[in-house]
Amino acid sequence: MDPLVRIAALRKSFGTLEVLGGIDLEVARGECLSIIGPSGSGKTTLLRCVNYLERPTSGEVRIDGKLIGRAEGERGRYLSDREMAASRAEIGFVFQRFNLFPHLSAIDNVALAPRRVRGLALAEARDLSAQMLRKVGLGHKLSEYPDRLSGGQQQRVAIARVLAMQPKLILFDEPTSALDPELVGEVLAVMRTLAEEGRTMMIVTHEVRFAGDVSDRVIFMDHGRIVEEGSPDTLLRRPSQERTRTFLKKIL
Ligand code: ADP
Repeated sequence: MDPLVRIAALRKSFGTLEVLGGIDLEVARGECLSIIGPSGSGKTTLLRCVNYLERPTSGEVRIDGKLIGRAEGERGRYLSDREMAASRAEIGFVFQRFNLFPHLSAIDNVALAPRRVRGLALAEARDLSAQMLRKVGLGHKLSEYPDRLSGGQQQRVAIARVLAMQPKLILFDEPTSALDPELVGEVLAVMRTLAEEGRTMMIVTHEVRFAGDVSDRVIFMDHGRIVEEGSPDTLLRRPSQERTRTFLKKIL
């Protein structure tokens, strides 16, 4: 079957700083892929290029066979802005900081995009949102405002918000790194459920043990390149590259 995500010769520079030096990567439908590597190695930038939060300097990202944006300097060859927005709506992004709207209750945070982007009626969007909040274990917090929720609960609302859009692909950018240690587990538990349901996920994470546990495949990045990839067992226990070994020794 065609991979859901196909990244080819992807490069990204900020000014003279080359952050991604040519990434080729495919993600299969239903695959859970984790991306690990030292800070500054380009993991977040890679994720942001997948849904064009960052525009690649060159190279391509295809989701479901469709190019969803243009590289810098290219014009007119790909989707219109409107089509790009529609494609982007099929990709969920869970940020390090949860980015909830402080003036909206949990259920209204979740219902916003289904109403605005999918055009659902209020009652329908709220039903769907309640369902998604129950799924992440927050059925008892529907009307709570973000500042009355713990960090772990806020992040679960953010995940419910992504799920309500029924994305084909969910990107997680260090979803637990802003959380107090005792709140990390509840977010990882939700992510584990999603992986078990066979959702296609790309996860940038420092939680290497978790990555090993839930992922079908792990990639190790350094200096803007994929150094090594493999099954969690191989990559985390028997890495072939010295750089991977050095990194893992420091954090495990
Ligand atoms: P990682 O997620 O592996 O820590 P990042 O992708 O966040 O790495 O960052 C890789 C490099 O790109 C870092 O040196 C960072 O400072 C730089 N960088 C990221 N975003 C920008 C930006 N918008 N402008 C300039 N430099 C950036």
